[in-house]
Amino acid sequence: VSSAESTAPLLGEPMPIELMNTLWADRGGPHDALGTVEDLDGWLAAVTIGSEPADPDLLAQFRELRGALRVLAAEATHDSRQHALAAAPDHAAAVATLNRASARTPSWAELDWAAAEPELRSVSSGTVAASMLSHLAELGVRLFAAPDRPELRACQGPGCVLYFARNHPRREWCSAGCGNRARVARHYARHRT
Ligand SMILES: [Zn+2]
Repeated sequence: VSSAESTAPLLGEPMPIELMNTLWADRGGPHDALGTVEDLDGWLAAVTIGSEPADPDLLAQFRELRGALRVLAAEATHDSRQHALAAAPDHAAAVATLNRASARTPSWAELDWAAAEPELRSVSSGTVAASMLSHLAELGVRLFAAPDRPELRACQGPGCVLYFARNHPRREWCSAGCGNRARVARHYARHRT
């Protein structure tokens, strides 16, 4: 088990959004919380009950899925934040990546009735991390196909590149920090004129 920690914001968003938000920014500029295999270990440990150590291939798959999710999130939210839109695959490639990842590691339920009481057992064809990737992709499919998709938002805080699910009608920002920065920016804009 890795002792690595994640630098991702981890705002308690739905899992596909948490993956999108492993690209984040502050006054120092953009940061990538999935830059290395150790980063992925730390992130997986932070968002799940833990898993076996990741490898470069799995890291590439998570990064590819993140890129696809961010392209589709940008489209769904009419995201105009230039700083948030890195070089990315087009719409069709993003959809294909999402669907491929969703299908990659099948998981299913099995009935275990060896003892007196029957029990449901979750089975997967791959490692915990690989089935996590597929599960995330499936949640992404459900996120974009859901009727309440308009609740997905691009945070308009100064310099922010995060997305969030608006779970409250008055929620405007990904975090209190972004709300404060936006209020300060508005204050200075007002006093300049
Ligand atoms: Zn924000």
